[in-house]
Amino acid sequence: MKAIRRFSVRPVLPTRIAALGDLSTNLRWSWHPPLRDLFESIDPERWSAVGADPVAMLSATSVEELERLAADDAFAARVDEAKESLDRYLGEDRWYQQWASEQGDAGAPSAIAYFSPEYGIAAALPQYSGGLGILAGDHLKSASDIGVPIVGVGLFYKTGYFRQSFNRDGWQQEDYPVLDPDGLPLSLLREEDGTPSVVHLKLPGGRDLRAQVWRAQVGRVPLLLLDSDIPGNDDAARAVTERLYGGGGEQRLQQEMLLGIGGVRALRLWSRLTGAPTPDVYHSNEGHAGFLAIERISEFVTGSGLTFDEALEAVRAATVFTTHTPVPAGIDRFERRLIEIYFGGDLAPAGVPLDRLLALGAETYEGGDASVFNMAVLGLRIAQRANGVSKLHGVVSRDMFDGLFPGFDDDEVPITSITNGVHGPTWVDRKVYELADRHSDAVTIDTTVLDSTESWQAMADLPRDDVWATKRQLREQLVHEARARMKASWLKRGASSAELAWTDEILDPDVLTIGFARRVPTYKRLTLMLRDPARLKKLLLDPERPIQIVIAGKSHPADETGKQLIQQMIKFTDDPEVRHRIAFLPNYDIAMAQHLYPGCDVWLNNPLRPFEASGTSGMKAALNGALNLSILDGWWDEWFDGNNGWAIPTADGVEDPDRRDDIEANALYDLIENQVAPRFYDVDGDGLPQNWLAMVMHTVSTLGPKVRASRMVREYTERLYVPAARAGWAMRDEDFAGARDLAAYSSRVREAWPKVSVDHVESSGVGDSPELGQTLHVNAYVSLDGLAPEDVEVQIAHGRTDRRGDDLHDVTTLPLTHVEGYEQGRHKFSGDLVLGTSGAFGYTVRVLPKHQGLAAPASLGLVATA
Ligand SMILES: *Cc1c(COP(=O)(O)O)cnc(C)c1O
Repeated sequence: MKAIRRFSVRPVLPTRIAALGDLSTNLRWSWHPPLRDLFESIDPERWSAVGADPVAMLSATSVEELERLAADDAFAARVDEAKESLDRYLGEDRWYQQWASEQGDAGAPSAIAYFSPEYGIAAALPQYSGGLGILAGDHLKSASDIGVPIVGVGLFYKTGYFRQSFNRDGWQQEDYPVLDPDGLPLSLLREEDGTPSVVHLKLPGGRDLRAQVWRAQVGRVPLLLLDSDIPGNDDAARAVTERLYGGGGEQRLQQEMLLGIGGVRALRLWSRLTGAPTPDVYHSNEGHAGFLAIERISEFVTGSGLTFDEALEAVRAATVFTTHTPVPAGIDRFERRLIEIYFGGDLAPAGVPLDRLLALGAETYEGGDASVFNMAVLGLRIAQRANGVSKLHGVVSRDMFDGLFPGFDDDEVPITSITNGVHGPTWVDRKVYELADRHSDAVTIDTTVLDSTESWQAMADLPRDDVWATKRQLREQLVHEARARMKASWLKRGASSAELAWTDEILDPDVLTIGFARRVPTYKRLTLMLRDPARLKKLLLDPERPIQIVIAGKSHPADETGKQLIQQMIKFTDDPEVRHRIAFLPNYDIAMAQHLYPGCDVWLNNPLRPFEASGTSGMKAALNGALNLSILDGWWDEWFDGNNGWAIPTADGVEDPDRRDDIEANALYDLIENQVAPRFYDVDGDGLPQNWLAMVMHTVSTLGPKVRASRMVREYTERLYVPAARAGWAMRDEDFAGARDLAAYSSRVREAWPKVSVDHVESSGVGDSPELGQTLHVNAYVSLDGLAPEDVEVQIAHGRTDRRGDDLHDVTTLPLTHVEGYEQGRHKFSGDLVLGTSGAFGYTVRVLPKHQGLAAPASLGLVATA
């Protein structure tokens, strides 16, 4: 296998239709059906044989045929039209341009760098394993659609993630097909003389890690992918980008160094070669890319003469960090020793002393492990702005990381939340768009911008009979797909075609269809539905109201437990008694997902609350008219409203995991039996399940506007990117005066803080039984050591108290005014608090650092309380 070097030769296109080249390499085709139609029209059979991939399609088309197409005026005109449409899409003003033009002197960023270890953009570019990658792909696509000037940074994995199949026993098999970048929609960054541009990192033992940089074009958004499989690297270095999430700790560290440090260098290359603006903001999607900050600190120290602390402030101001997992095992933690080897001695990046670097990833909180370097902790320390990915995940993350902000209430931990979204044009089935199109006069849906709030709302008015007919078509489409996949799977499992006639009959386009597909970490509980196999069987085989279930999911290759769960599931689905009603389809990926979500009536999700940070598959199903049946976790906790699906009650607090699973599984069976199935099969004289359809219309019209990734990207832009850009400029302006000032301030405050205290508090104005509306007058006497009164905020923090009364919740603060200073750094502050809430109430007086460069009061993690 090694001896053969495969490569793809790109066709030379006749001039008349040369635009097909750009049309095939810009990934916009993956979410723009007219472009796919154009390629398919060349030869529909070949199109499906090449897996609906324009680059592969052109490669598979002969020179003669291309000549013939060029001579076909009608075809050539379609190419011209498609190219004009693409150029318009790439060039015209979109939401962001309009928004930015209204910002005046405050300014708006001209480039935002988005770092992610994986990207799920299209089946034709398999560089993802699951939710994180799909989300990153949807982020880029939506940024493109609304004009946000993002540039993506990632790695190019030669074998991507694995392809899943099963052996006879239902045990997961993994294949790693080698990708040939020349056969993918990628182009190599090159120097002016044509040689590939290279970034270069030093490794221990005098070794080098070099990488070339591929560029994918995602609509308006460029995506730079670093690839270490190049001559000049030793074998181990060439293998660094071999596999997504492959290899052990050391390889993972090298991948993350390449992503973070190499990624920043790739951006510099990109600017130098194309004149693209240097990013104003750096967004680390999960902690894997955290080393980007180390490279940027080093740049500032060596290029602008800042100290480490000043550089860190400049970096922090302009960095955004998104945490994606409440599962500790999901966070990358390296042995501290490894970091010392890779970043110490001669290898220390210029201007970044090893001890400072180590401190950024140290678990300096109770229960922390002194021997590890934690990438999530690094993420929080290099970014002034951080977020979780749903409201509930925000709460969970603030609790999870509160150790970094001792003395603060969880509510005050500076991690906000932006709930994930999905890219409508990628995930909404074409038949849904066509449905909207058929009625666009009556319901004023502009199908060219179906991804707008108004269009989704207008879906409520679609005629129900047509909605129901469309849903049946989608179900039928899934049934066909499932039959073909099941047959192929069994052939691979060693059965002969003669034994497989039954696969042509599995599933039924008129039966209530439940979908369940996801990666298989334990918390997602793939096999919860098998708690009581007899009961599940009864539901599947119910003579009046049967259900059918389509399941898919991959287990990480190293996760034996996950593979056992899959095997258990497959064994159940293999049973001839039920196999026509329940199917496990191998190799869950984008291509399958695009059939699966639309074909389902119900999308099932039963994670162990609260470990599902957001979840996005249920959003994709909802956009296609499926109702969610889910544990109240992640996004569903936020947007379940009683009419858009069902909440599986959680047994939070039940300690015994077996008992908890039993309780939740029973609740699931009960819901299906007593609510879901009866409603689905309750049809009127016209065969329409009116109550079901009411829920579908409600789901699409009310969730549609919320779950869009364009909503998400707007929120990132307005709430995080733009403030980060402005904070970054404030640090850099006038030769980094802001960074120098903030660094000096931080160091002064840290030094003085041990002696800062609230010495004495007097209050008056409220008697023993306080009443609403009364005014509490407070005088606070504090010691500030050498700090000036304007260096701090002395405040009343007030809120609800719990029964024990030793913690404040939903804290609100009221700053006190400086009244006078005394000797030895003592000061009096005072203010009036009007009692505005009834119930158990408490307050305290505290001192916090105050500086305009701090994004949140808790940013420095310093507080002195009475
Ligand atoms: C959406 C999607 C996921 C993530 O779904 P979750 O609900 O977040 O688990 C994983 N894989 C594929 C192929 C997807 O399309």
